[in-house]
Amino acid sequence: MPYEVLVIGGGPAGLSAAVNVRARGRSVLVVSNPLQENPLWKAERVDNYLGLPGLSGAELLQTLRRHAEDAGAAFREGRVLNAMPMGDDWFVSVGSDMENAKAVILAAGVARAKKFPGEAEYLGKGVSYCATCDGMLYRGKPVAVLGYSDGAKHEAEFLSSIRCSVTYFDRPKDCVIEGGAKVERVTCNGETVPVDCVFILRPALAPTDVFPNIAVENGYVAVNRKMATNLPGVFAAGDCTGGPLQVSKAAGEGLIAGQSAAAYVAELARKKA
Ligand SMILES: Cc1cc2nc3c(=O)[nH]c(=O)nc-3n(C[C@H](O)[C@H](O)[C@H](O)COP(=O)(O)OP(=O)(O)OC[C@H]3O[C@@H](n4cnc5c(N)ncnc54)[C@H](O)[C@@H]3O)c2cc1C
Repeated sequence: MPYEVLVIGGGPAGLSAAVNVRARGRSVLVVSNPLQENPLWKAERVDNYLGLPGLSGAELLQTLRRHAEDAGAAFREGRVLNAMPMGDDWFVSVGSDMENAKAVILAAGVARAKKFPGEAEYLGKGVSYCATCDGMLYRGKPVAVLGYSDGAKHEAEFLSSIRCSVTYFDRPKDCVIEGGAKVERVTCNGETVPVDCVFILRPALAPTDVFPNIAVENGYVAVNRKMATNLPGVFAAGDCTGGPLQVSKAAGEGLIAGQSAAAYVAELARKKA
């Protein structure tokens, strides 16, 4: 059965949103990369989160996650690539799979990486963000994987298993993607390889890659005081809406987004009754 609310991102904002959706009696699914890949995981000590001083980032994240699990939130590990509205629902692609919900809360933190030259231009023409989704199109062909997470290695193995000739670049900093009508080569860290496709596997995507029509101001998702975006049924919380980039602010915005999403779902149900 579909969930009423889907949260993208399992950091402080997403977990707080999930707790507060559950507090309003609505079902919620949190889709996120592994907790260990959250940027806060590496923090040695967090001293300014109210009531829980002195925890490491990893301890704090595990504590917040347990709270959301105990509140009844469901979890799915994966990377959200795209979200599309259809009727009263949002369809959200998780790798090569799909989930749907009435409301979505974007709590994906900040995408720290800048796009490479050629990346936006060739997206869909030999640049892909998902090997398991698009790999078959390049079966037996030369491809490059630009991997920025442990999961990226598994996606590269999948490409090898379908006889792609894979060049793996581990967390390259400088790359250029070039070609004609389609991608023909990629140069990373000074090494040029002829390829038909470049799979760029970062843990986080820019909000505008997931929701092409979402309004952005100064690089952050634009929201009102209810944490509503310009898209009906889509709310946002945490670092993705702007500074201060801090846990307390993320948790507070998650609360508002969770309550707003639950109210949105209730209103939809009332209109249908
Ligand atoms: C080293 C370090 C130390 C810090 N120390 C402090 C501190 O002492 N005090 C403090 O208040 N703040 C600190 N911060 C900042 C704090 O970590 C952030 O403000 C906070 O984590 C923001 O929460 P968030 O939920 O908005 O985003 P995040 O915590 O970034 O969570 C977003 C999650 O969504 C996932 N995600 C993104 N895109 C997708 C997608 N497409 N599909 C699936 N999952 C996705 C990400 O991988 C991530 O796990 C620190 C940050 C760092 C990096």
